[in-house]
Amino acid sequence: MKILKKFFLVSQCYLMLLGLFVVFPVQAQDARFTVVLDAGHGGHDPGAMSANSREKDINLAIVLDLGAIIEQKFKDVKVVYTRKTDKYLTLQERADVVNDHHADLFICIHTNASLSSAAYGAETFTLGLAKTRANLDVAMRENSVILLEEDYRTKYKGFDPKSVDSYIMFEFMQDKYIDRSVEFSSIIQKQFVSYCQRSDRGVRQAGFWVLHRSACPSVLVEVGFISNPAEERYLTSDQGQKEMATAIFNAFVDYKRTHDKKSGRQMASVSKIEQTAKAEDHNQRRPLQPVEVAHPNPEIDTVSKKNKIEAPVLTPANATQTPVFKVQLFATLKNIKAKSTSLKGVNNTEYFVEDGMNKYTVGNDTDYKKIEKIRKEVATKFPKAFIIAFVGDKKITVREALKLIK
Ligand SMILES: [Zn+2]
Repeated sequence: MKILKKFFLVSQCYLMLLGLFVVFPVQAQDARFTVVLDAGHGGHDPGAMSANSREKDINLAIVLDLGAIIEQKFKDVKVVYTRKTDKYLTLQERADVVNDHHADLFICIHTNASLSSAAYGAETFTLGLAKTRANLDVAMRENSVILLEEDYRTKYKGFDPKSVDSYIMFEFMQDKYIDRSVEFSSIIQKQFVSYCQRSDRGVRQAGFWVLHRSACPSVLVEVGFISNPAEERYLTSDQGQKEMATAIFNAFVDYKRTHDKKSGRQMASVSKIEQTAKAEDHNQRRPLQPVEVAHPNPEIDTVSKKNKIEAPVLTPANATQTPVFKVQLFATLKNIKAKSTSLKGVNNTEYFVEDGMNKYTVGNDTDYKKIEKIRKEVATKFPKAFIIAFVGDKKITVREALKLIK
């Protein structure tokens, strides 16, 4: 009798398991193509900032436009958003959305920033080892949101977004989605040029945590520079945001067509959106590309130097090789007093954007001693203030600057 009971129990378990296998694939696997759209930053994390706009708003506007077009044109695509409102999510929570939905494609939208207001153009990243310092800088800036989390050291297993050493892990990493990610990135970049007349900064690789944790082809788009006045105007305009979203949509149409063919999936006949005559007019009125010179990272300074430079946010005392010293008072993610020139009673403060942070400074002199004097004067109000140095728009170490003077 006991044996019979055991037999029934075991067979019941098998039946239950069998039932699970029959039901599970139908319930958990959505037959539709799933794309996850991620508007970078949000809530108390504004991302990169200028005096007038915040990265998180630009990213969200483009994501909502993009999602709306995909939903309207593709009935066989499920669009999932990591956020549809001004909400903060950690990088891990964003990757969890991708994996929980068994996504087929992951698109992160970000806006770039540079110390030099002359830098401009759109670029698309896939996961990989950064081959240039410029690419590593972008990943470091985007990953630095990790520092906003309380116990980031345990949560991110010792990954320090600000340490170059942390990025070595990406050298030995196998990414089985890399080919498809690169393929999609290239189509996006082509569309930015043909549909929006944007400047093409190319497909790049760097160690982005959010891409690293997502199990599907994934790209991170830097739609342009918030620190470039012309590009900022474009990216904060309705037309600019719609155009960027449409360009990514067109790339999605191409990518999905190839993907459907390979997977034998029935494909819906969706066409790319052509530029309308009206939009072309608009593009003709707008200068084709803003100028780019004197980018702080020489390896990505691709445009001829004879172009005109727009006035940089940071105005050094002169543009020669003579270094300029300033006192950095503090850095913050919040755009608290961007327009204020008086902080805690310290007058004539300035700020610049670096690593997505607003960095507030006072003083601007080629004489190190004068700046050291200012640092001492502000020490009671800003005890952590320290001296920084620039040559032209390029930030250098104080040690390098002092060597240049000798
Ligand atoms: Zn960002």
